[in-house]
Amino acid sequence: MSLLPFGKLPLFAPRQFVPVEANVGNWTQLSPLFDQLETRAAKCSSVTDFERWLLDWGELSAAIDEESSRRYIAMTCHTDDAEAKKAYLDFVEHVEPQLKPRQFKLSEIYLAHPLRSQLPTHRYEVFDRDTKIHVELFRQENVPLETEETKLGQQYQEITGSLTVKFRGEEKTLPQMAKFLEEPDRAMRQEAWELVANRRLQEAEKFEAIFDHMVKLREKIAANAGFPNYLDYAFRARGRFDYTPADCRQFHAAVETEIMPVVRELQTARRQQLQLSSLRPWDTEVDPFNRPPLKPFSDVTQMVSRTQNIFDRLDGTLAGGFQKMRDLHLLDLDNRKGKAPGGYQCSLNESRLPFIFMNAVGVQRDVETMLHEAGHAFHALATRPEPIYSYRHAPIEFCEVASMSMELLGNEHLEEFYPTPEANRARRTHLEGIVKFFPWMATIDAFQHWIYTHPGHTRAERSAAWLALMDRFGGLTDWSGHEKARANLWHRQLHIFLHPFYYVEYGIAQLGALQVWANSRRDKPGALRAYQQALALGGSRPLPELFQAAGCRLEFTAKTIHPLVKLVKEELAKLN
Ligand SMILES: [Zn+2]
Repeated sequence: MSLLPFGKLPLFAPRQFVPVEANVGNWTQLSPLFDQLETRAAKCSSVTDFERWLLDWGELSAAIDEESSRRYIAMTCHTDDAEAKKAYLDFVEHVEPQLKPRQFKLSEIYLAHPLRSQLPTHRYEVFDRDTKIHVELFRQENVPLETEETKLGQQYQEITGSLTVKFRGEEKTLPQMAKFLEEPDRAMRQEAWELVANRRLQEAEKFEAIFDHMVKLREKIAANAGFPNYLDYAFRARGRFDYTPADCRQFHAAVETEIMPVVRELQTARRQQLQLSSLRPWDTEVDPFNRPPLKPFSDVTQMVSRTQNIFDRLDGTLAGGFQKMRDLHLLDLDNRKGKAPGGYQCSLNESRLPFIFMNAVGVQRDVETMLHEAGHAFHALATRPEPIYSYRHAPIEFCEVASMSMELLGNEHLEEFYPTPEANRARRTHLEGIVKFFPWMATIDAFQHWIYTHPGHTRAERSAAWLALMDRFGGLTDWSGHEKARANLWHRQLHIFLHPFYYVEYGIAQLGALQVWANSRRDKPGALRAYQQALALGGSRPLPELFQAAGCRLEFTAKTIHPLVKLVKEELAKLN
């Protein structure tokens, strides 16, 4: 596929099971390989045979996964290329649906296998646990319900993606409107904010209807799988073995007592700096001293070489990893026509190499994204030697520790981009962003706890539950005159619609990242060593052990949060 930014990549290891010439994007060539694995399982007569069988299954999964990633990368790098889109959709429509039941079948074969109990326990503990969950939760009757859920998700995205407003004579998408909230001219900010809020409100009825339908489906999915409610089902399905709904509620309470006071202090300072009598929803993003935006680089080449300098200063292994990605063209970073929006890191699972995609335009946010995605890429590089396919991925709670830590550690060397006063301004914005994120995380998470433990609730009750959370976590922002926008604010949070309960992970990970950063202030080489050792574990150990290896604790109590918030506050004071 010539549409890929990179050429032929070196194989990590030669294939032992999948034929070298196999076209793994074609189901007719894949299906016999699944047949072979199914029949071979019965013939395994020793643990060695059985482990080889598991590795071959992993090799096939990795090859298919890489094919899917390659098609996704080609499509997002060339949204205007019909062939690339066709190749991607072909895979989604013709390979993935066939793949799911075959993978499920192999999981069943594994669980029923007589040699399973003879595998080394410590080594296979996590794999075994995850495979059990996969089989335990699978219900044939849920498949059509999940398809319906996905389609509703598409409707939600279609509506949000299609929204535009007419701003000063020009039609603009809602993401394009975001930059006007950084505009020093307050009247312009207000105009932009109100246009967007009102545009969303016009769709409120549709969002509510889609969501009502989703909640019904999810309650049914949970009931089919034998769970009393969708909250308990989701915790199991998301593989949350190491924390409970009660832990999450404790986390929300800790955010309220430990973080909200700091949020209110920051908001008060912002209001005073902006010389306002009250802080309105359109006053939260603008620079409080009305300075022009930071300009970290003039072109992407400069961004890459400066980022390289940061890694050179941090650690030789990390620097070498980033250099390798540059050499192999595993970076597509500049914003250009025909590229999908946003940024992501994606692993090529057979080559065992990471790829980073983003749309850099020359703002500080690009530097943060670059460091964040590089953290994910370091994770992928660190797990290369791991032979078990599923262990080359960590749970999401820990993946984000890898990326968020890299933002904090990398920010220590922002002088590669700016003179010190400007570097401090960037650091300040970043740390304030971390503080402000926790209450929003708690709001989104607590809201979903309420929704899925109140079956049969009405829209009015749901709205009241949301507003109660806005009172708890909204801080000092003055919403008067915009009560309706406030009551419907959750409509804009995609996760509530598309990825239920997937949000608290970011909060959990941020606590981990802050701990890594705190450790690095005491002992930088030690913290970086632990960070890399934890990354290298991939998903081979349970979540608490991954945190422990990185030198931190998986804990969301006030006791853990308190010293971290104190450190951030001290740092913010220094950066003033
Ligand atoms: Zn991330």
